[in-house]
Amino acid sequence: MADIIYQWAKFDDLERDLLYEILQLRQKVFVLEQSCLFLDADGLDQEAWHFTGRLQNEQRLLAYLRVLPPSQERAEVVLGRLLVCREKRGKGFGRKMMVEVLKRIDAVYPGRAVKVCAQSRLKKFYESFGFKSVSQPYDEDGIEHIDMIKDGTYSESLTETGLRCLNAAEMKAFSKGYCSEKEKEAYLKHLKQCSECYQKYMALMMFSIKEQGKKEHGRGFLLLRSRLSLMALGCLLALLVAGWAISLKMF
Ligand SMILES: [Zn+2]
Repeated sequence: MADIIYQWAKFDDLERDLLYEILQLRQKVFVLEQSCLFLDADGLDQEAWHFTGRLQNEQRLLAYLRVLPPSQERAEVVLGRLLVCREKRGKGFGRKMMVEVLKRIDAVYPGRAVKVCAQSRLKKFYESFGFKSVSQPYDEDGIEHIDMIKDGTYSESLTETGLRCLNAAEMKAFSKGYCSEKEKEAYLKHLKQCSECYQKYMALMMFSIKEQGKKEHGRGFLLLRSRLSLMALGCLLALLVAGWAISLKMF
């Protein structure tokens, strides 16, 4: 089977032609095929992530999914508009899309629960990904739906892989020490193996040391203390470098 090329993009980063293709396919499937009169362009696309799949050797879009980020009113990530173009159904592409999108959601919104307003006929499908029903079946635009939620798996995914890259928020929290012991452990494990994250982390640490230096400048009484903490930090960094170098077998 040909490889699928995935694209995970925010609305602003979607190419114009791709956006048109997405809207066209959504209308085709959700409005025409399902004979369902509803406004597909619901005004939520601008804040959403758009996940597309395309077969390597084919022009047309194969599959699509929309992901709404958590907001002030909603703690969960919401997944919706999952579709596979008509000619390619029953070949497991929907399942592949789900596997891939859940990875991306976990990377961008670690620990967040994921919600789906599923058509009831797809209940089993979503259950196989760990979603659980949290509502009675209800009617939406003439089609029976049910709300389902998959719990957040932050710490699990961290210790399990320990290998996924840290996102900006995690990196910041880590560099300031605002994270649990378990998280620290997982982050350190990752930093030892990922030079990219390691460099980002070092840059952040350097920056915060500079900032701290600035704050304490002029306060002669505190200067010695800041020097000492700088030295301590220096030692810590040296240890980290050594650990990293050893793990890469540089010595
Ligand atoms: Zn990394």
